[in-house]
Amino acid sequence: MADPRSASAFPSGPAAGANRAPAPSSGQPGQQTATVLVVEDEPAIATAIAQRLSAEGWRVEVARDGLSGVDAAQRLRPDVIVLDVMLPGIDGLEVTRRIQAEQPVPILMLTARDDETDMLIGLGVGADDYMTKPFSMRELVARLKALLRRVDRAAQAASATPAEPPMAVGDVTIDKAQRRVHRSGEEVHLTPTEFELLVMLASSPRTVLTRERLLAEVWDWADASGTRTVDSHIKALRRKLGADLIRTVHGVGYAFEPPAG
Ligand code: CA
Repeated sequence: MADPRSASAFPSGPAAGANRAPAPSSGQPGQQTATVLVVEDEPAIATAIAQRLSAEGWRVEVARDGLSGVDAAQRLRPDVIVLDVMLPGIDGLEVTRRIQAEQPVPILMLTARDDETDMLIGLGVGADDYMTKPFSMRELVARLKALLRRVDRAAQAASATPAEPPMAVGDVTIDKAQRRVHRSGEEVHLTPTEFELLVMLASSPRTVLTRERLLAEVWDWADASGTRTVDSHIKALRRKLGADLIRTVHGVGYAFEPPAG
């Protein structure tokens, strides 16, 4: 991965840093204004995304390189991040690692090719969704809205059930109120989407859930092309929690297999 020291070759002063795009004075009725950080070095794409998201009533800030993106994420605490993979300085993978280490934030990653998405999925990078360029702005907006709905729903669920005891399935405990997961007493750090997926699977142990159903329930996004995203998060969960927890039912979906306590 990118050596952080190489970032010195790409000065990221204020000029290269985050620039606030103009936001409309009011969002849509009944909808909270979301803050979106766009990390994208291609000016035409960054501008097009910023303009479209601003038109949705969202607050948008653009960072032009990886280090500026990490800084902006820490400063802004955005609700969601649109992150290009290929960036000057540190790449999108390293940006994701640094941001997620600080605080989990939903990330939609932009890739250049489908096989690049596959590679990132294999690495279990920790993004919540992926889109391959070129993409339509309408699809980007739809996916971001689904991501934000998911985060809202998770926050409501957490605040509505403060006294709910953690789920214990074998040696795995899932605390929905605190959104924390332990296996054999060791805390496992999951992204917001990984957490939702685990809760969904663990709520119906030994039951096969189809990829389409997981996509609809967890991502709030019904499109067969998105099942790739489901696979990526299953791989990430297995890497973090152990490969034995989730069984693949080929051609159908996945089942949570409770481990021995
Ligand atoms: Ca790029």
